[in-house]
Amino acid sequence: MNVDADRDDRDLEAELASPSAGQIGIPVDAVCVGCGRTRVKRASLEEIDQGEADPTTLEATACTSFKHVCYPCQGATWWNPVAILTGLLESERGE
Ligand SMILES: [Zn+2]
Repeated sequence: MNVDADRDDRDLEAELASPSAGQIGIPVDAVCVGCGRTRVKRASLEEIDQGEADPTTLEATACTSFKHVCYPCQGATWWNPVAILTGLLESERGE
């Protein structure tokens, strides 16, 4: 399911391009457990306990929380995946 279109009030590509999204991993829309805001982050498959999975068919509900920096929280916090951004993932891969 491509959920990217449901988030047209945000610029997901710009969020992903931001340094705060991180540099390694697949694009994941996630909620900070500290402040509750939703941002695009990169998470490695190992971080979300999906080491052997195909990222294009991942379900966010199957993924575990992962640690990432949150600037409003001023440090590393836990983020709960709400969607795997397969549209961004595929455009990065040139598919
Ligand atoms: Zn936060």
